[in-house]
Amino acid sequence: MPTRLAQLICRCSWLALLLSGLSVAATPSLQRIQGKPFAITLDCGVPHGPHDQVVRIDAPEGGWPAWSQSVLVLDAPPGLVTIRRGKEARCGMTHDARSTDSRFRSGVGAVLTPARGSVEPIFVSAPPDSRLGWNLTIRYGDPAAVQREDTMRFALRIGGLSVLLAMLLSSLLVFANARDRIAGLFALATAAFALWIALRSGLAAWPRPWLPSGSVMNVALVWLPPFVVGVHWYVSLAYARCDRVFPRIYGTRHWVLLAAAVLALASTFSGDLVDLFAVWRLIALAVVLGSVALMLVLWRERQQGAKAVLIAVLPPLLVLGPLYGEVLRAWRSEALLVAAAWYAVTMTIAMSLRMGALRRQRDRLKALAERDPLTGLPNRRAMAATLPRRVHEAKAQQRPLSLVFVDLDCFKAINDTHGHGVGDQVLVEAALRLASQLRGGEMAARHGGEEFLIMLPGASADQAKGLAERLRRAIADPAMITSVGPLSVTASFGVASLEDLDHVRGSVAEALVAKADAAMYRAKQAGRNRVER
Ligand code: GH3
Ligand code: MG
Ligand code: MG
Repeated sequence: MPTRLAQLICRCSWLALLLSGLSVAATPSLQRIQGKPFAITLDCGVPHGPHDQVVRIDAPEGGWPAWSQSVLVLDAPPGLVTIRRGKEARCGMTHDARSTDSRFRSGVGAVLTPARGSVEPIFVSAPPDSRLGWNLTIRYGDPAAVQREDTMRFALRIGGLSVLLAMLLSSLLVFANARDRIAGLFALATAAFALWIALRSGLAAWPRPWLPSGSVMNVALVWLPPFVVGVHWYVSLAYARCDRVFPRIYGTRHWVLLAAAVLALASTFSGDLVDLFAVWRLIALAVVLGSVALMLVLWRERQQGAKAVLIAVLPPLLVLGPLYGEVLRAWRSEALLVAAAWYAVTMTIAMSLRMGALRRQRDRLKALAERDPLTGLPNRRAMAATLPRRVHEAKAQQRPLSLVFVDLDCFKAINDTHGHGVGDQVLVEAALRLASQLRGGEMAARHGGEEFLIMLPGASADQAKGLAERLRRAIADPAMITSVGPLSVTASFGVASLEDLDHVRGSVAEALVAKADAAMYRAKQAGRNRVER
């Protein structure tokens, strides 16, 4: 059922992704321009590099109209953008343009009010596309239209971020539940990516700046992606069980993570952080492509985890790769966030499915370890684990508890006369007859060879003796049907109760077993096929 549900969610998300892609493509573009280097001095305190691009927005024919004009600069690091018209200038610092005194949330924006008929152009200055690693997008025009689009972008980003935070919590839960290192690492990477998106998309300044701005922020912007990419490599290799097929490649996961950390650290000392965005995009693309190739091979080698990683990684790959240029143009940040949310959701589902599989495997192993393969009864280990707990509970609740030791009579003779196969048939039948007499909470276990222990919580010594008598009759009558015909089998029973034990030094459970064993021995001495206490 969980697998079906996961499949359904996967399919629905594909559809949602497709629809959102179509709707983005169908959104009528506002005017978008791209500038050429243009000599201009912009002096409002923003450190502009010598190669900054300056985009000139000319007034329409006949000069600016009577109403104001909005300019919104997207996908540029805040703090490095200036919007200017005449003496009006807006510098894109986090704490001004993106905070409470700006009406825009998704980029660095300004509302300018040129005098009617004025032809003075608007200038936008920002780092050049080559350094950003993507095309700067500028929206301008009627303030209402620009603002509507800004709100839509903001809603998309908030939505994506919420999904990331939900997945962060979910993988933290998996980590806390199962102490699964991969889930822990994945949670860290999800947190890092959520932080990166918050910083990069302006959410960090809404409703008021709540994350560090300026240089600290730019360092974090550079630092976080390599960490995320390194973790992706680590998690996908572990999840797709690369260790089974390519142990050597699997060994690289620590090194890739370490290299990412070192590169990230080194980059924080680099003079110009902006240069690194483009480099990181290429490295991210290379690592993701490498992981896709590896996952394809692992999938062919029948590692099911690889399929989940491929499904998860496809949208981010498309967004970072072929769609990065013209297709996604103006909606790159939002597409990246949607793709990341997709990745986080798919990987979290895959991880919880993996947890389910691990839990089933653990249950199977536990069942194997605690069950006697011949009779199907719990084995000595299971009884040794359960009895002390029940004894403790019985003492705490001042309730009785009894134990019956069962030993088949002259069993060696059955083996010697008819062979071990027939002996086994007798053991199975005896176990069946014993277990069929018990109620919920009572437990029969194979203690060894032809010996059984029966735990009776809530039974006083007398009640236990009564039950042992019933069990004795159940074994003895009717004769057991075996491959060599009916065999008459009997057993001797020893009963011990908590009430019989006083001043036990050491384990009460062990003392109880020893006492029941001694009683059984007395039953043997007294001529077998009887109950002794
Ligand atoms: P007593 O009435 O005094 O208990 O005599 P006994 O023959 O039942 O006791 P003894 O301890 O001498 O023999 C137990 C035998 O149980 C010896 C061993 O070969 C046999 N046995 C132990 N485990 C198995 C098993 O799994 N299958 C079969 N067929 N025999 C087993
Ligand atoms: Mg024995
Ligand atoms: Mg015996």
